[in-house]
Amino acid sequence: MTNTAKAIGAEKAPIFEERKDQIHRIGEGDFAMACNRDSLAGAVSQRACVFCGSRVVLYPIADALHLVHGPIGCAAYTWDIRGALSSGPELHRLSFSTDLQELDVVFGGEKKLAKALDELIVRHEPKAAFVYSTCIVGLIGDDLAAVCKAASARHGIPVIPVQSEGFKGNKREGYLAACKAMRTLVGTGDVSSISPLSVNIMGDFNLAGETWIIKDYLTRMGIEVVAGITGDGRVDDLRRAHGASLNLVQCSGATQDLAKMMRDDYGIPFVRVSWIGIEDVAESLYDVAEHFELTRPELAAGLVDRTAALVREELSTLMPRLAELRRDLEGKKAAVYVGGSFKAFSLVKAFRHLGMEVVIVGSQTGTEEDYRELAAICAPGTIVVDDANPLELSAFIKEKDVDIFVGGVKERPIAFKLGVGFCDHNHERKIALEGFVGMLNFAKEVHASVMSPIWRFVPRRETGRNVSDASTATGAEATGAEV
Ligand code: SF4
Repeated sequence: MTNTAKAIGAEKAPIFEERKDQIHRIGEGDFAMACNRDSLAGAVSQRACVFCGSRVVLYPIADALHLVHGPIGCAAYTWDIRGALSSGPELHRLSFSTDLQELDVVFGGEKKLAKALDELIVRHEPKAAFVYSTCIVGLIGDDLAAVCKAASARHGIPVIPVQSEGFKGNKREGYLAACKAMRTLVGTGDVSSISPLSVNIMGDFNLAGETWIIKDYLTRMGIEVVAGITGDGRVDDLRRAHGASLNLVQCSGATQDLAKMMRDDYGIPFVRVSWIGIEDVAESLYDVAEHFELTRPELAAGLVDRTAALVREELSTLMPRLAELRRDLEGKKAAVYVGGSFKAFSLVKAFRHLGMEVVIVGSQTGTEEDYRELAAICAPGTIVVDDANPLELSAFIKEKDVDIFVGGVKERPIAFKLGVGFCDHNHERKIALEGFVGMLNFAKEVHASVMSPIWRFVPRRETGRNVSDASTATGAEATGAEV
């Protein structure tokens, strides 16, 4: 990158007055952030709707039928945007919709829903069915619960309504609706054969095989994994999930509500974990080992030592490879904008292993406590942002002149249009980024993207061009906003 390119980035972001308290620059005044509130009208939030929040959590349950009760557009919105690999059945890869149309909106969609359930359950023989409510269903008032209850009685499988009307809050509401739906299954299976040293892996969705990596570590330690919730998920595993002795909760938003429900319903404790980076993966494994050595000393003798041996073995392969990649990446800057803030913590630490600093960090659904902890581990000057929009992100990226942006499918075009590297750490990726092997994959991907020569040829970085020339790339001209 040229010095000219560096200079081009120096500008401040346009911020809506009502959003100013959702952005904090570390070192500029005492920490305070507003968050977990509805997105500002007109701000074009990066967030998805309540329905999408439910859908992404439940979708990896591979032997369930997923039926979206609503217009076809809602189903298309989330169709196959996640990999969510399965080691067995793949019914989840098919997305079904009742395709509500004008007459259904006028006269009600309950009969159409019942007919769709009858046809699909007979044809696909699922272990259970999830029926998602969308905006229009909330408006016309179809009695989803009654239709599902009747279908369940006709077919002898759980048919579970997911109350995820898109308008009823932000994406976090969708997570809660998904957890309430799963709660109806938990506690209905036989747990007699489950080991006392057992866990559920919660909040990982096996997008590129990550649940299998974590399951392998735990199995090597001597821990039984009862259910992936919902990575490589199965209905019968969810039914038995209350037989596990401990819940490992990654992603504070998506499944923590279910963990709390299971603590209240069955007395199962949970620990928050992260399977991203180096320290966080090791710490998570040690937390599991220490929990069982403390609570089941007669069964868990030597568990911490076995865990240490596993961590040592993995690091002996990983660290030399990271050192090679770090040579090129030292001093580069990163921006991170992800769905849940747990990932942001781990990514800040992971980038430090590559000699890189995160200078912008944010999420769609973080809490004030999350952001306060984030601010505590980031350097002065770092921008912390909640529920950002494309205009803000674009301006922050140019101001800080980052070398790579880590985000999801909606952030990718922002990065590419501004001529910076991108790493997909969300829906669409095909490479596992969790566990120690995931850290190496992450480092390789960051290296390949940051070091690509293509960024030199992006108009914004060409010598002599004014930064305002790039505003078309962000859509700023179209919205009439100043960048
Ligand atoms: S549920 Fe509502 S907000 Fe969500 S995709 Fe459907 S119409 Fe859009």
